Amino acid sequence: MTYITKALLPVLLAAILALATPAAAVDGDLALVGGKVYPSPTSQPVSDAVVLVQAGKIVAVGKRAEVSVPKSAQVVNCWGKVIVAGFWNSHVHFETGWEDSTHAPTDKLEPHMQEMLTRWGFTTVWDLGSDPQNTLAIRRRIEAGELPGPKILMAGDIFPKNGHPVYLPAELQLPEAATPEEAEQMAQQYLKLGLDGIKLFTGAYMGNKPTVNMDTAIVRAAVDVAHAKGKPVFTHPQNRTGVDNALAGGVDILAHTIPTEGQYTPEELARMQQQHTALIPTLTLWTTVVQDPLVADRLVQAGVDELQSYFSQNGIILFGTDVGFQSKYDTTQEFELMGRAMPWRDVLASLTINPAAFFKATSTGRVEKGMDADLVVLNADPATDVRNLAKVACTIRAGKIIYGK
Ligand SMILES: [Zn+2]
Repeated sequence: MTYITKALLPVLLAAILALATPAAAVDGDLALVGGKVYPSPTSQPVSDAVVLVQAGKIVAVGKRAEVSVPKSAQVVNCWGKVIVAGFWNSHVHFETGWEDSTHAPTDKLEPHMQEMLTRWGFTTVWDLGSDPQNTLAIRRRIEAGELPGPKILMAGDIFPKNGHPVYLPAELQLPEAATPEEAEQMAQQYLKLGLDGIKLFTGAYMGNKPTVNMDTAIVRAAVDVAHAKGKPVFTHPQNRTGVDNALAGGVDILAHTIPTEGQYTPEELARMQQQHTALIPTLTLWTTVVQDPLVADRLVQAGVDELQSYFSQNGIILFGTDVGFQSKYDTTQEFELMGRAMPWRDVLASLTINPAAFFKATSTGRVEKGMDADLVVLNADPATDVRNLAKVACTIRAGKIIYGK
């Protein structure tokens, strides 16, 4: 008897609450009505659809005539709009504008979060190196429900000895590994701190001086620590040697293309494919690193060529822009540049199913029953123009609207 009473109690409470507040939506109970849904990049769209969300999960997706909307649900009118899964940005930094995030007031952080991430549809992001304590504070405030924002995953940076990149402040203390043992210790410390991955500077940019590369043995030591815990390793490669040492050391993700090298070699492409290495193109970044527009155009074209060469060999592509380091928050240009190398459905895959599969976040990436309610409502169809992936009306994470109405 006691058992039955206990089991019924939440049901009764829910019923009482529903009676007491008939107009208010039960938390997380959301119905997106009338839009065109792309359940995944590979499936046919469902027009005039309903996406029903309860307790942070998608509980139904179907034609409007086939899905009944509970009276308690908050209805979002999506007529004329397009619904896709929440986007991943697999290369961001919480640097510029995120100083002292432990104490900064929420009303200062929230507009910046929108401007940089949520208004572009991002529901999951990888911070590839910032002050870890600062990003941990942002993550805590988001997860406490205090600051609307994406799920944040974090990688800890390791630099080669005497490889302090010229674009980082000289006074900043950076973890430089001179030996495999040092890299091992640094990687262990990061994972103990609660970080989700490691990022190695297998090539550090030194301005007029030659790039400083990380030895393969040091790469391998950090990779072994991360892989033993099931964590991924990213690399900032900078040049060809940086790519080759990263691949030889077993790194999982190239966090940039290497446009100054022009192209990957056939051997590099074969090895990337064989090792299931993922590539984050960061093409917009190449428009921001040099003054001369002709040089920038050449870098961008080389980046597009590299992306195309790996994509055409069925390489894994992950979307990422390096925002927070660079300040072109608008994703339109990245979509346009990626669209030169691959069809729009594959660009959508780089934002959704590819990172979900690669990082084993299998409850995200699709608009299907049972998945997390991470959703983006677009004002226009990406099938007609890939740049429409940047026309975000509304971003929803775990059933909560974190941007838009
Ligand atoms: Zn970066």
